[in-house]
Amino acid sequence: MDLLKKRIQSDGQVLNDSLLKVDSFLNQQMDPQLMLKMGEEFAKRFQGESITKILTIEASGIAVSIMTGLFLNVPVVFARKKKSMVSNEALYCTKVYSFTKRESNDIIVSKSFLQKDDHVLIIDDFLANGEAATGLATIVEQANAKVIGIGIVIEKAFQPGAQKLIQAGYRVESLARIGSFSNGQVNFL
Ligand code: 5GP
Repeated sequence: MDLLKKRIQSDGQVLNDSLLKVDSFLNQQMDPQLMLKMGEEFAKRFQGESITKILTIEASGIAVSIMTGLFLNVPVVFARKKKSMVSNEALYCTKVYSFTKRESNDIIVSKSFLQKDDHVLIIDDFLANGEAATGLATIVEQANAKVIGIGIVIEKAFQPGAQKLIQAGYRVESLARIGSFSNGQVNFL
């Protein structure tokens, strides 16, 4: 998606050989117009797949998922990283190792928001080693629902996540695919 690639080139910061900072439009400050366009693009790519729900993970997957949900006209559920004080219901739960925080945490979804006949589109902001997406897919499978595909805003294709997910049988659609970082520059595939 050219609009996103241009934005990464102009506003992204390569922190080291594997980390990209995009806090100015995706991870802290958010650009609603860009989110809307990305939601439209995901909806276009997964049109006709009878998706009934979008599943993402807090916090950075939520905005783009909401926009996608708007275009596909389906609800958006996000996995929490901490159990809420007001949660008194049965939960789906699995462990996910965080690439940026270097620690494992439970991710949690209330059982009332995923049913066995759901056709789920998983969305996340980045794909690195595939831990977050695999955790979300595990939760969908715990609900005996079906993963229709995985939508990723920024795939770092030099890390093994996409290959692992494709090998596991999932359809992966990424809006921008990065082949490498060199001298502080982003090289797209
Ligand atoms: P994975 O679970 O695929 O190893 O990593 C994806 C998760 O780690 C995403 O949810 C994202 O929050 C975070 N992440 C991975 N790589 C990057 C990166 O280069 N920049 C940022 N900002 N987050 C990343």
